[in-house]
Amino acid sequence: MNDMILLKQGEIVLKGLNRRRFEQCLINNVTRRLKPYGQFRVYAIQSTVYIEPQNDSCDMDGAFDAMKAVFGIVALSRAVACEKDADAIAKKAIEYLGDAMAAAKSFKVETRRSDKAFPMTSIQLSQYVGGELNEAFPHVPVDVHTPDFVVHVEVRDLAAYVHSRPVPGAGGMPVGCNGRAVTLLSGGIDSPVSSYMIAKRGVRLIPVHFFSFPYTSEAAKEKVIELAQTLTDYCGRMRLCIVPFTHIQEEIRDHCPEEYFTIIMRRFMMRIADRIAADNDCDAIVTGENLGQVASQTMRAMAVTESVTNVPVLRPLVGFDKEEIIRTARKIGTFETSILPYEDCCTVFTPRHPELRPTVAHAEEAESALDIDALVEEAIRGMEHIKLKVGDSL
Ligand code: ATP
Ligand code: MG
Repeated sequence: MNDMILLKQGEIVLKGLNRRRFEQCLINNVTRRLKPYGQFRVYAIQSTVYIEPQNDSCDMDGAFDAMKAVFGIVALSRAVACEKDADAIAKKAIEYLGDAMAAAKSFKVETRRSDKAFPMTSIQLSQYVGGELNEAFPHVPVDVHTPDFVVHVEVRDLAAYVHSRPVPGAGGMPVGCNGRAVTLLSGGIDSPVSSYMIAKRGVRLIPVHFFSFPYTSEAAKEKVIELAQTLTDYCGRMRLCIVPFTHIQEEIRDHCPEEYFTIIMRRFMMRIADRIAADNDCDAIVTGENLGQVASQTMRAMAVTESVTNVPVLRPLVGFDKEEIIRTARKIGTFETSILPYEDCCTVFTPRHPELRPTVAHAEEAESALDIDALVEEAIRGMEHIKLKVGDSL
């Protein structure tokens, strides 16, 4: 059967002159994500992306599931194309939706007609197809107000399509259409969620993890790799940067006032992230910080840590409650990995009494004994890169 997948584009359709670029970005992402499932033809017409299998060996179920995670799509449905003729459409609906119709308590037909040359109006075609379906499934009554099952018919330029109710897509904008950013990925609950949220706004991400071996273990690193791997379902392929952070933390411990440990450490994270951003054409740094969660996440502390960067620091979770963050973490499949009990470098050398009212001047003074540039350079040089492809399991 000539089964196919239709993707409804989301906000892209509002983009006016830039629309072609956004649409091309979506098509590229979709095409790349379909590769493991066979050969498909992908094209866009009238704010819908069409995915047509090129042969019988295509895995349509796998392809459909993969498309649910692609940003830039508000709804997706499986559909079958047929001749633009009322009888052919009705016959196709009976054949293609037979199982769903047989199980439905009531139904209605909804028609959209973008081909205005079609000889029937949308209402006429709905009535005709509804009548035919009613004859084929006499036990299922028509209910135009609260139907249990909606049969969608679309008459477009090239063909007519019959499809069942669309399922929600991932929303957002196609990854890559809004530039690139560095995202700071710890092993915690928050940063995978903040990464997901910024990717959803169309940003391609470079995840960066600060690793303090042997204070933090190989298992902690594996956990971060697994989180980044899970995120590729949404973000596409990524290159995870693992930054050696031990020497910096020891230098801070040995040469800086204890109450500033965390602030100085976070300023180093920001400097290194800023460097990676500059080297990779990234326009922002993303963190999972959340207002008031801990001493280092007050407005003042944020001001002091971000004062060393040249690009904006995006904190999409800043106003979220933990419950809301956890709900998203569960939805995107990172929660179970995030709660594995491995330590993060933030929990190494934590001050007993962190500074609650830090200032940039005090932070600069507190870190003045360190050779900042040399430490940043050393960390950048020691960086390890891990390439992650969509669908690679560990
Ligand atoms: P998370 O759950 O994401 O770890 P958190 O609430 O535990 O966040 P912190 O540990 O203070 O908060 O970290 C705040 C943010 O700093 C994290 O969300 C992350 O973006 C970044 N971060 C913290 N530790 C690391 C690390 N080891 N590597 C990379 N980024 C980190
Ligand atoms: Mg953390």
